[in-house]
Amino acid sequence: MTHASQIASEYGYKVIAKPLPQEVVALSVARKLRIIVNSKLPEFRQNFGILHELAHIQLKHTQPYTCEMENEADELAAELLLPSALIGRETNLHTLKEKFPYVSYEFLARRLADRGHLIAIYDNGQLKTKNGLLNGYQGRLIKQAFMEKQDIRGNGCRVFFIPPSGTWERVILIGTGNE
Ligand SMILES: [Zn+2]
Repeated sequence: MTHASQIASEYGYKVIAKPLPQEVVALSVARKLRIIVNSKLPEFRQNFGILHELAHIQLKHTQPYTCEMENEADELAAELLLPSALIGRETNLHTLKEKFPYVSYEFLARRLADRGHLIAIYDNGQLKTKNGLLNGYQGRLIKQAFMEKQDIRGNGCRVFFIPPSGTWERVILIGTGNE
């Protein structure tokens, strides 16, 4: 049973994993207390999908869902999957990943962004997402982390080299403020 299935079961929902069309992550059959999740997706995405559906149910959203409802469901799903309070003041992504192995590095970075940290995610040297402006110093640290394939502790930020999976290499910058 995945972490999210466990949470869903605490709310009285049974999670069924089965192959669904690629574009579908999960769906719910609220009257049958069931959430169906796409078994073809990686576990991280299944976890988030299950809790996103649970969030729609808990928030009493009715179809068709608006963008606002989708955002609300994402927020609640993130909080269910990893309550912000559990993160505390920790900003080391590797420490967090050890503590919460059931979520992805990207998810952890996004949770830190929710807590007000500057974040930037780069895949193979290309910007994937960021929530603020980076300065030249931070840009150079990111390049250095890619070249040296290791973490770098900077002034007011840390850059994490994420263990490669598949064909891409990922580097994530987290703003730490004044340490
Ligand atoms: Zn949705």
